[in-house]
Amino acid sequence: MKPLRPIPSVDSLLNLPTISGLQQDYGHAWIVSAVREVLDEIRSQVSSGETIPTEEEIIQRVTNLLKTQSTATLQSVINATGVVLHTNLGRAPLCRSALDAIAQTSLGFSTLEYDLSRGQRGKRDIHAADLLTRLTGAEAALVVNNNAGAVMLALAALANRKKVAISRSQLVEIGGGFRIPEVMRLSGAKLLEIGTTNRTHLADYENAIQEGAQLVLLAHQSNFKIVGFTSTPSLPEITALAHRYDLPVVYDLGSGALIDPETLGLEPDLTVQASLRHGADLVCFSGDKLLGGPQAGIIVGKTKLIEKIRGHAFYRSLRADKLCLAALSATLLEYLKGMAAETVPVIAMLSRKEADLRAQAGRWRSELQAGQVIAGESAIGGGSLPGQTLPTWLLAVNPKSARKFNQRLRRFETPIIARIENDQVLLDPRTVLPDQETVLLANLKIALSEE
Ligand SMILES: *Cc1c(COP(=O)(O)O)cnc(C)c1O
Repeated sequence: MKPLRPIPSVDSLLNLPTISGLQQDYGHAWIVSAVREVLDEIRSQVSSGETIPTEEEIIQRVTNLLKTQSTATLQSVINATGVVLHTNLGRAPLCRSALDAIAQTSLGFSTLEYDLSRGQRGKRDIHAADLLTRLTGAEAALVVNNNAGAVMLALAALANRKKVAISRSQLVEIGGGFRIPEVMRLSGAKLLEIGTTNRTHLADYENAIQEGAQLVLLAHQSNFKIVGFTSTPSLPEITALAHRYDLPVVYDLGSGALIDPETLGLEPDLTVQASLRHGADLVCFSGDKLLGGPQAGIIVGKTKLIEKIRGHAFYRSLRADKLCLAALSATLLEYLKGMAAETVPVIAMLSRKEADLRAQAGRWRSELQAGQVIAGESAIGGGSLPGQTLPTWLLAVNPKSARKFNQRLRRFETPIIARIENDQVLLDPRTVLPDQETVLLANLKIALSEE
């Protein structure tokens, strides 16, 4: 049977005002390729027996395709989960000054590797270094792309083909495939496991040194906890022992808080500064966990060791870019000024008072005329502080299907991410940024009206 109408040509479609009107948004070449793609698809559908769509349908398909192709896969969302360092949602949101610094230095040229006073080539690695040493008390600092890279680089530079002692309780796997034993193997270091999963003694470290260990590595148990019959020597004990044999101690601190989590109502944990004070020769940590800055791997510690790391060939392939250095410097400045609790979103979110969260959830309830305000927990997340939560207040809504309601929330132009518990959709004010609240409530209203 002959088709009822012919498949239109590329040119005839391009001449239609509705298609040529798309020029401003997408440009000629892109439209041509979308038209071709749609026509190819139609041809193959016709050959398998389908009828030829109408001109309006074809136009719609071209428009939809262009829309889909131009929607960024990386887009902004509203995090109503209460998980502060949500790995899947981009970990730490940046502070305003970090964003301004990125715009200031990156919309044009910058002194990334230029020394203004001498009018010649300068060094990229000076940018955040001064701020880092001032804040942590370290002799020197180096910034790379992420903490996994920092640990790998430090080991490659300091322990290639050398034995590295690490407790079996610290052979951790962080999300995203970062496994300490794997990283050690790739860096060329030889893993010397000591102690047992639950107990490691100072004598185990001493034996490892007798067996030829040339570096002691400690890794934070970022995302799990060993409880019960456990023991591990303190950091000062380990560093004192290692230093007696002139061996460096490298501490992969993971999250790397500059402010003691205890002051935020969490369990106490060693800060970067305290780890250095307790004798760690190098401390590696992330820029976008508890620090609340951009993705980065930060290494602070002894100048001699940092210089060795800087000189390693891997450093070039792991170095931080200018956006990162601009944002990190601005974030660190907030700490130096003592403003972090107000201006750095991660710290601000962790610092929020329960009464304040309760009042906010209450305002949401009265504005939406739906749900109940209930007590709950916000998770810290990001593999930062294992199992730790902060008390919070939630707006709990009861749609017919929590799953379908959440799906609807994710379809808004600024998608809303919420969690489900016991068939309820829970919305936690803690992680909703102040300037997203209006959009959140407007869209919740729409979603609720569709119930
Ligand atoms: C998170 C973490 C890492 C990896 O840091 P990234 O910045 O994500 O690369 C490494 N070690 C520990 C102990 C961690 O907690």
